[in-house]
Amino acid sequence: KTLKQGGTFVVEPRRLSKATAELRARGFGEITIPPSTETAEKQASRCTDCGVPFCQNACPLQNNIPDWLRLSAENEPREAWRVASLTSTMPEICGRICPQDRLCEGACTLNQSGWDAVTIGSVEAWLGDQAFANGWVEPIRPAAERGESVGVVGAGPAGMAAADRLRSEGYQVTVYDRHDRAGGLLIYGIPGFKLEKHVVQRRVDRLIDGGVQFVLGCEIGKDVTLAELRERHDVVLLAMGVYQPRILSAPGRGPDSTVAALSYLTHQNRRDLGDAEEDGWHEARGKRVVVIGGGDTAMDCVRTAVRQGAASVTCLYRRDRENMPGSAREVVNAEEEGVVFEWLGAPKALLSQGDRVTGVRAARMQLTEAAPGQRRDIVPVPGADFDIPADIVIEALGFSPEPFAAHEPDLRLRDDGTIKVGSVSFATSLPGVFAAGDAVRGASLVVWAVREGQDAAAEIDRYLKTRTEEVAA
Ligand code: FAD
Ligand code: SF4
Repeated sequence: KTLKQGGTFVVEPRRLSKATAELRARGFGEITIPPSTETAEKQASRCTDCGVPFCQNACPLQNNIPDWLRLSAENEPREAWRVASLTSTMPEICGRICPQDRLCEGACTLNQSGWDAVTIGSVEAWLGDQAFANGWVEPIRPAAERGESVGVVGAGPAGMAAADRLRSEGYQVTVYDRHDRAGGLLIYGIPGFKLEKHVVQRRVDRLIDGGVQFVLGCEIGKDVTLAELRERHDVVLLAMGVYQPRILSAPGRGPDSTVAALSYLTHQNRRDLGDAEEDGWHEARGKRVVVIGGGDTAMDCVRTAVRQGAASVTCLYRRDRENMPGSAREVVNAEEEGVVFEWLGAPKALLSQGDRVTGVRAARMQLTEAAPGQRRDIVPVPGADFDIPADIVIEALGFSPEPFAAHEPDLRLRDDGTIKVGSVSFATSLPGVFAAGDAVRGASLVVWAVREGQDAAAEIDRYLKTRTEEVAA
């Protein structure tokens, strides 16, 4: 079979290289092997320029994928990088961790014609790495300084994307975060085997070099109030994510019988960064591990446990493979690494001896027929309960917003505790306070946090300019 690109015919299968499962299990480095220039160009040349950019439509940032693929294929990586960075403040990060199978690559028309999708994410990450290595990443140098200041709560991707765009416009930007490092879930949530930490740090460094101030170890609502921040800054952007873990409600669950997923992942990330020691509680070496949940967080936990040297790792999820919320790609990676999946298994009770957990009792579930227009439900199969032995049980059941926002009586929230904003303006019910990212959408994706951070920055810019003009008049 041949494909046409730029008037020439090329024959090239999809090629995305990963380390072997055996090698992966030995460490926390990224599993994707960066493509050589030749491979990246060949992969980019697989784009048929089909005329209707479904990939671009499926990308939350509306990245101009066909153009930067064409430029990459034509050996113009610097120009391709320029195009990629017009719509995204962190292409090399999204290229690594977007669930491309559900976004750009899932929409690639090559899928329909029997060829696998272009490796869009891999080319995007490669472009970013080339740009950093060759000094093509432009520093933030505003054309003119502006006097107004913006306080950003949260140094995750939404806050970082907003800070990047606002500082580039000349605003004085201060980012507050309760952690000791910037990056949000990019640094302490997502494991190094998906995203190595130096990739995040160089983005943070660029913001610092560009004049963004970071105030770390500062929790809004505890160390400083929102009212104080509003006094300090012309505008405040709330981008503090969602961190309240959903808790398993099952007999036998005591306060210390399970490990919270984010605590587990944060501890390993801190160890990778040299900040923490083994503490027993967060270590899986030689132990039988059961992770409850089927999202990206659960996948990160099972794969972390493999790397820690667990004796066995089981993922217990109440629905089936087709209905799990996590990325299909990550399930395949986990399976390759030896994780056992118990699909259609719902936790029913925790088993223990004294205060030591010994296992999970689960109900076998089955899917019901779907009512018209509705998702198939699940019901237990009578008499089919089963036990999984465990030394550690990790709960990865998702996150809700923390009560921080609830302490601000005039800040309007939705029923689920997320912050209510104007759908285009990102303005909250408090004058001069905007919000973006997971704090608004609920637990979502990095690419959406970046998109909202960028869009909120544009709205803040508009708001400040309009207000300035009003005051001046
Ligand atoms: P966050 O990244 O959560 O950042 C919020 C920041 O606010 C944090 O640094 C926090 O410390 C700070 N903060 C919170 N409250 C306060 C306060 N009161 N005062 C000061 N600071 C505060 N998405 C993907 O696209 N791909 C993936 O592979 C992926 N994997 C994931 C794995 C895990 C384990 C988790 C939990 C999520 C994953 N996600 C993934 C989702 C993604 O990480 C989030 O959607 C994204 O980080 C949200 O960005 P954000 O900036 O809104 O919030
Ligand atoms: Fe694909 Fe994500 Fe990059 Fe968009 S940002 S092109 S969805 S990898």
